[in-house]
Amino acid sequence: MTDLPKDFRRSISQNESLLLPEISVVRTSKKDGTKKFLLTLYDGNKVEAVLMKYSYGYSLCISSQVGCDMGCRFCASTIGGRLRNLTAAELLGQIYAIEKTLAPDERVSRVVVMGTGEPLLNYDNLLTFIRLITDESGANLSIRHITVSTCGIVPGIRRLADEGLAITLALSLHAPEQPLRESLMPIAASYPLNEVMKACDDYFDKTGRRVTYEYALINGINDGPEHISRLGQLFKGRPAHINLIPLNAVDELGLLPPPPERVNSFAKGLEKSGINVTIRRSLGSDIDGACGQLRRKESL
Ligand code: SAH
Repeated sequence: MTDLPKDFRRSISQNESLLLPEISVVRTSKKDGTKKFLLTLYDGNKVEAVLMKYSYGYSLCISSQVGCDMGCRFCASTIGGRLRNLTAAELLGQIYAIEKTLAPDERVSRVVVMGTGEPLLNYDNLLTFIRLITDESGANLSIRHITVSTCGIVPGIRRLADEGLAITLALSLHAPEQPLRESLMPIAASYPLNEVMKACDDYFDKTGRRVTYEYALINGINDGPEHISRLGQLFKGRPAHINLIPLNAVDELGLLPPPPERVNSFAKGLEKSGINVTIRRSLGSDIDGACGQLRRKESL
């Protein structure tokens, strides 16, 4: 790159790196072909990414931070706390490193920022990443094929709504009322449910993009008939889609998913109240598919 000024070349050769994350472990699900990757970053830190094959092509779930400090009671990613944010290059690097393992004509066509970490607490790098991955001269990924999942960081949701980007916002809801939500997700004490829902409503008004609500079903905790009716009240008049996810059990946390019949009747109950609902297929359950489980096991 001799057309760049000498000082600048010296500075980037000393301070920047072109290394992609290195693939340290790959686990392939025998059940559904889902692949979980443990990637090692330039400083030895490790992050997880999960590649899922759907009828439309590949969807990749990437991490946004090394570890997480949100403290959700059911999540393995948060057990060791947060070590650092990922750079925009490391967000991109997860996609490029994993695409290299695909056939030459295969591409990652959807990206979900739903791996370890809270993306809206790594806001600037997330935005740089979104602009780069959707750039025509880069991977040119469709902006509509990007989903960002948050535990409900209200200022981040509001900022994102003002960016004018057609990405899908997913909110990790997990409880229809404040006390239960706060007991499962400590961050809810800082951003109460009514404020989070208002921010999501405003996100829809500003972007025209319907928010997806994630609801991990935890046996005996948030899966009763009273939760169905509270959800019915909460979503009355709200354009929304609820994704039900039977909890991925994490050994250390002692929480379990409900039996499949209960998951199905929960979904039926929501449909009866007019809520648009899908049960997320639990992919990769045999390969430590839940957030943070593989990284944690490999570091023990
Ligand atoms: N911090 C962001 C994104 C990372 S977590 C967020 O909270 O949305 C990605 C999703 O996985 C969230 O919906 C989270 O609540 C969910 N999750 C975490 N642990 C889980 C588990 N053991 N089983 C099912 N879903 C889980």
